[in-house]
Amino acid sequence: MTAAHACDVLVVGAGPAGIAAATNAAESGARVVIVDEAAAPGGQIWRSSSHTHPPRAARHWLRRLRDSGAAVESRAGVVDVERRDDGLHVLIEREHERLLIDARAIVLATGARERFLPFPGWTLPNVFGVGGAQALLKSGMNVRGKRIVIAGSGPLLLPVAASLSHAGARVVLVAEQAPAGRVMRFAAALWRRPSTALQAARLRAAFVRAPYAFGTWIAAAHGDERVTSVEVIDADGRCRDLQCDVLCAAFGLVPNVEVARLLGCELLEGFVRVDERQATSRARVYCAGEPTGIGGVDLALAEGSIAGRTAAGLSPAAADVRRRNRLRRAARELDAAFALRPELRSLADDSTIVCRCEDVRLGQLDSSWTTRQAKLYTRAGMGACQGRICGAALECVRSWPPDTVRPPLRPARVATLLPE
Ligand SMILES: Cc1cc2nc3c(=O)[nH]c(=O)nc-3n(C[C@H](O)[C@H](O)[C@H](O)COP(=O)(O)OP(=O)(O)OC[C@H]3O[C@@H](n4cnc5c(N)ncnc54)[C@H](O)[C@@H]3O)c2cc1C
Repeated sequence: MTAAHACDVLVVGAGPAGIAAATNAAESGARVVIVDEAAAPGGQIWRSSSHTHPPRAARHWLRRLRDSGAAVESRAGVVDVERRDDGLHVLIEREHERLLIDARAIVLATGARERFLPFPGWTLPNVFGVGGAQALLKSGMNVRGKRIVIAGSGPLLLPVAASLSHAGARVVLVAEQAPAGRVMRFAAALWRRPSTALQAARLRAAFVRAPYAFGTWIAAAHGDERVTSVEVIDADGRCRDLQCDVLCAAFGLVPNVEVARLLGCELLEGFVRVDERQATSRARVYCAGEPTGIGGVDLALAEGSIAGRTAAGLSPAAADVRRRNRLRRAARELDAAFALRPELRSLADDSTIVCRCEDVRLGQLDSSWTTRQAKLYTRAGMGACQGRICGAALECVRSWPPDTVRPPLRPARVATLLPE
């Protein structure tokens, strides 16, 4: 059976950006629906958990969302979306049900995912993403006494190392690929944002006994049934072997821009291009949070607040605009500080699996091909994740631009795709 809704503003994604957008739009009197694939609103950072107490900001925004009157649809993933003259028509799979939503305007707040770069051994059991390990921890994973190596890039390494340490893990090493000089220059500029500097210092203090090595990255993971050791290398070519039970590895975040691309929104350097009001190049389509640029929770909230108000036909609040502009400048500095080094493009050898869903190895992919050819000849990118992991990796390793986006945007039941 098909359920149907009509609303003024549909918000896709119930992370901080989507929550702020839905709340602001609904508080202005618009009829709002917010949908998310996850079991509850919160997104990556405020993912609900019976093991942790949500932070004050999460409690504040979740209460405001509930009181705003916006309708929340959880476990509801967007499968297809179409723009017509009278608005947007969105096909959603909610649990196992087909749901159609007609909206006058849409706010895309689809967040980001981790960037995984393939290296020998990255598919071994007990090798997780950095944020993935955080998510598992929030769902109750027991890491007490486990030796953990964290390798990758960006500020997410800090809270994850702190949480793992707090949960009783022994953090053996945090390996940041960015060179110390670049990160230190960035850190020195944090005097302009003392609360960020203080938060970073607090997080570092939580795993103070673990070494934090800059200019160091993962070369390979070893083990038979699961990872038992990792090899890290530094800019001077020095290699080290470290015994461990768990490896967390990821190299920053990749924006989720598939829904925006399906709607034909213009991208700029891989991010959705938006104007001052968070409007995309497509009429009635707004975007907020990580798809417009990786910038953290406060920027996501500011952009979401602006997008929600403009999608509902109001002017954005001046304070939100000021906050967004300031935080965007900080995000650009952060991005430059943690830019990926070229050596990371050649971690995988010919025998390394690059597409985990379809078991395709790097050596099977001719470097003269395009992403489409790789799909057609080897099925790389055709599995359950629909290229979300290997697509981003091959963009880095082979410099292949992403393939076109087509519906369904996610695996869906045939009954969801067929009109009744
Ligand atoms: C795995 C991971 C873990 C992270 N952990 C932390 C952390 O511990 N601390 C920290 O400071 N920052 C963390 N971050 C960064 C944090 O997510 C951002 O700083 C910020 O909060 C992003 O907010 P957002 O609303 O833009 O996106 P998100 O919080 O990512 O929310 C986007 C939402 O959109 C939903 N969505 C996406 N596509 C669809 C679709 N097609 N249909 C329906 N729903 C959809 C997703 O399920 C998600 O809930 C993490 C990021 C990732 C990727």
